Amino acid sequence: MMQEESALFQTYARNPLALVKGEGSWLWDDQGNKYLDFMSGLAVTNLGHAPKKVSEKLKEQIDTLWHTSNLFVIPKQEEAAKKVAEVAQADAVFFCNSGAESNEAAIKLARRYFQKVKGEERYEIITLGKSFHGRTLATLTATGQDKVKEGFLPLPAGFVTVPPHDIQAIKDAVNERTAAVMIEMVQAEGGVYPLEAEYAKQIEQLCRDKGILLIVDEVQTGMGRTGAWFAHHRYGIKPDIFTVAKGIASGFPAGAMIGRAYLKEAFTAGSHATTFGGTPLASSAIIATIETMQEDNLPERAAQIGEQLMTQLRDRLSGNPFVKEVRGLGLLIGIECEEPVADLVAAGQKHGLLFVSAGPNVIRLLPNLYVTEEEVNQAVDIVVSVIEEKVPTPSL
Ligand SMILES: *Cc1c(COP(=O)(O)O)cnc(C)c1O
Repeated sequence: MMQEESALFQTYARNPLALVKGEGSWLWDDQGNKYLDFMSGLAVTNLGHAPKKVSEKLKEQIDTLWHTSNLFVIPKQEEAAKKVAEVAQADAVFFCNSGAESNEAAIKLARRYFQKVKGEERYEIITLGKSFHGRTLATLTATGQDKVKEGFLPLPAGFVTVPPHDIQAIKDAVNERTAAVMIEMVQAEGGVYPLEAEYAKQIEQLCRDKGILLIVDEVQTGMGRTGAWFAHHRYGIKPDIFTVAKGIASGFPAGAMIGRAYLKEAFTAGSHATTFGGTPLASSAIIATIETMQEDNLPERAAQIGEQLMTQLRDRLSGNPFVKEVRGLGLLIGIECEEPVADLVAAGQKHGLLFVSAGPNVIRLLPNLYVTEEEVNQAVDIVVSVIEEKVPTPSL
């Protein structure tokens, strides 16, 4: 469709491909062409397309009850909260509808905890360069990338961004107004940069020492993607607050802000709300997603198959002068290249493989957590061949 014909605000540089059907790791366009999906709607369809159990539970719920209101008890939401808290190894959950909203809730909870519970004038959140936290005014201000801020002045106060992998920069930024440090364990949108383990530990320790909260944005890394239910489990750190959205309901819009018991008293009746958060429909999709993941041990599967994917890519791309680094965690993998990769993404599509970039120079691979070895082999063949077509690996 031509841009002039569309009634939409043109906020996306849309690929003209029109996908109309999905099953497991595969997508079909409106011409009947089939694609192997290695982007999963940007880490959303973690169980593949139209996963059976989620689909059944949603259909059941559609015939029973869609929406009441958070003014009433919602039994499915209570059940979903218990499930989320269980797999998250945390205590309290607030349901919302997106990643930005879950981060917004985290920021509000951190501020309110200090101002209402502790009686301290703390509100500042320290975030990292290259981070991505969403597109609302607060979360784009938290985001450590200038491109999302252009033309939106004035930005809300109370955010400080420091360079990543420099613990001293965080120490220098902490002051009597600091409420929290907010990080991603793997900076996904920023280029698939996993935080170094020791740096992550240092941040946690600093937060403990200074009595400030640690917020981890797990919107992209959460729900098994990185080989554990949450990436911070792999790092062995314990944030006070963390957020999840993309993969939480297999493509049904939902998000959650998750916290420790001692933060519960900061949010009292009327302090925060959203109409659609945790509806019976969303909650059913969340419950079915988590149960499916538990039954099939998907976080562990993501760790294993992610390791295979990473090893294959490293083996086959080593020595290629166009490739700078293959890195990632679980099934969130980035291939950093010397130059922009937009043409490689397009070439992959011609070969029947869908993937995305993360920043201009990084190829990002995000298959679903059921992806088979055979599909991994197929994808690696295509990725390697499109890179080799552009810049051949010199033979020894
Ligand atoms: C996608 C993403 C967000 C924003 O989520 P939306 O659902 O688009 O609002 C926030 N943080 C991270 C790390 C993300 O990957």
